[in-house]
Amino acid sequence: MSRIKIEFAERIKSLPPYLFAAIDAKKAEVQAQGVDVIDLGVGDPDMPTPAHIVAALQQAATRPENHQYPSYVGMLSFRQAATEWFSRRFGVDFDPATEVVSLIGSKEGIAHMPLAFVDPGDYVLVPDPGYPVYAIATTFAGGIPWKMPLKAENGFLPDLDAIPAEVAQKAKLLFLNYPNNPTGAVADETFFLKVIEFAARYNVIVCHDAAYTEMAYDGYKPLSFLEVPGAREVGIEFHSLSKTYNMTGWRIGFAIGNPELVAGLGKVKTNIDSGAFQAIQEAAISALSSDQLCVREMCEIYRKRRDLMVSFLTKAGFSLKAPQATFYLWINNPAGMTSAEVSTMFLEKAGVVVTPGNGFGDAGEGYFRISLTVPEARLNEAGERIVKALAV
Ligand SMILES: *Cc1c(COP(=O)(O)O)cnc(C)c1O
Repeated sequence: MSRIKIEFAERIKSLPPYLFAAIDAKKAEVQAQGVDVIDLGVGDPDMPTPAHIVAALQQAATRPENHQYPSYVGMLSFRQAATEWFSRRFGVDFDPATEVVSLIGSKEGIAHMPLAFVDPGDYVLVPDPGYPVYAIATTFAGGIPWKMPLKAENGFLPDLDAIPAEVAQKAKLLFLNYPNNPTGAVADETFFLKVIEFAARYNVIVCHDAAYTEMAYDGYKPLSFLEVPGAREVGIEFHSLSKTYNMTGWRIGFAIGNPELVAGLGKVKTNIDSGAFQAIQEAAISALSSDQLCVREMCEIYRKRRDLMVSFLTKAGFSLKAPQATFYLWINNPAGMTSAEVSTMFLEKAGVVVTPGNGFGDAGEGYFRISLTVPEARLNEAGERIVKALAV
């Protein structure tokens, strides 16, 4: 009941339809019938933040100096902890003063990147399927997202040679994400070297979303884009504590890489937000600086869940390889079914929520995604229901 006519801006009105709204409605409907629905749709860790990190927040929260405005780019001690962690993990050194900036979750940095570097009409190369923020933040900045299809036959890596030269010439940013959400794919040095060559040829800034570098199995250690020779001249990488330390609700991450790119992002942040709560930065220092046993334990839990679900899906008739990283399974639809039909079928026949692949872009049609973010007993129940649903 407004006394004025309220109209959303074009950038909001032109947002793609919320594909999950239909699933959410359907889920509520099935739940109302008394079905105990198991949600394998959300990519949000079910386990609590490790106790030593929570304790560090409690400590830091009592100190009045942490109650004031933080520094826009983050406390120097946090940036130091980030660069030291990076150096230990990937063997590459960065300057905490100029080559890293704190983020209020890596999504914040990803979403602000186009505001710093994209002018209206510029192209931004985004993966399809992919994290929706890359394309939406591009359109918010007036840019034009150009979808790079990720295909199974290319290991879900974009085919850079398939990008028309006239698009590449007008492209300002290239978003990548490995280990990948939603496909679980990983990238090797050969691919990253090709990316650097492409970036240098067309003058494109590489934005690598590295949210899942710590979630890997069977001895596999994901690469940072920035450990590949030449990467720091062309790119910036977004790191998140969300998945690594079960801290999605805390909103803390960092961007690291080329100092001009870090400075540009910092400039946007100075004018839009006021940085992350310092007590959370102190807790993040504890997370990054202490021994990484909790991370190894987390990976072992997800590995067990992964193997369990892969075996149920195989029994149900699906053919899939266990992913080397991330907590996602990306699975081909049963023959003749669309992604929307598959998710409806699982919900109605098994009381299990899965995400239709086309929710991540048109090229995700033909797939559905399962998140391993429920406890093993629930996953077991979901697996049994899936096997039963497909047997009839
Ligand atoms: C979860 C996720 C993020 C992390 O987001 P935060 O804002 O750091 O919580 C970033 N990119 C992808 C692809 C993700 O799945």
